[in-house]
Amino acid sequence: MTNKDIEASLRQTQARIRTAAERAGRDPESVALIAVSKKQSAEAIRAAYEAGQRAFGESYLQEALDKISQLADLDIDWHFIGRIQANKTRQIATHFAWVHGLADSAHARRLSEQRPGEMPPLNVCLQVNLSGESSKGGIEPSAVPDLLNLCETLPGLRVRGLMTLPAPSDDETTQRQPFRALRMLRDQLATPTRPLSCLSMGMSDDLEAAILEGATFVRIGTAIFGERH
Ligand SMILES: *Cc1c(COP(=O)(O)O)cnc(C)c1O
Repeated sequence: MTNKDIEASLRQTQARIRTAAERAGRDPESVALIAVSKKQSAEAIRAAYEAGQRAFGESYLQEALDKISQLADLDIDWHFIGRIQANKTRQIATHFAWVHGLADSAHARRLSEQRPGEMPPLNVCLQVNLSGESSKGGIEPSAVPDLLNLCETLPGLRVRGLMTLPAPSDDETTQRQPFRALRMLRDQLATPTRPLSCLSMGMSDDLEAAILEGATFVRIGTAIFGERH
């Protein structure tokens, strides 16, 4: 895609978000767009940045680190959205502002310990498995309270909310089910001191369903950048 194509598809994605938010009776500003740039070039990221995008999501650590260093002149918020491996936590803790797929107490401890002291706490969303598909990662809803309680004792982490990555579906009613379940789980677990205000849910093919159910972050790759290389 050319830079112009990326700008145009970014605008289209922003319009989809606005339309869905209006349909839901929500403020479009309450939905933040993460441009998922895994398997896309640094040039493509730069084009989206020049069109105004600031939050980018990456899944593969080495590839992400290469692009983060190539783009160090830009004021980007980097979100790690991939699977966390224990031997990679230091680099995640050092180079990212957010982690969306936290699902393991050992990873939580390591990320907190390894977060550099001069940086603000790492923002995390706990990944919850709501479609019963173990391959998609995430913890069972019943395990969320314990991991939340642990994270609150870790000074290097700041728990912001919950994330889910359901199995794809073409049908909006089906798409909405896990998103609604995530929102209801959040509503159950939220307290005044622990609002869990972030719901990270929705991708290129189901962002409308996610926004209708309360998404505050949508993670969008192909709708912005085209197919991955
Ligand atoms: C790749 C990925 C996305 C983006 O998917 P698209 O269908 O390209 O929008 C979102 N979230 C996660 C966790 C991903 O791995």
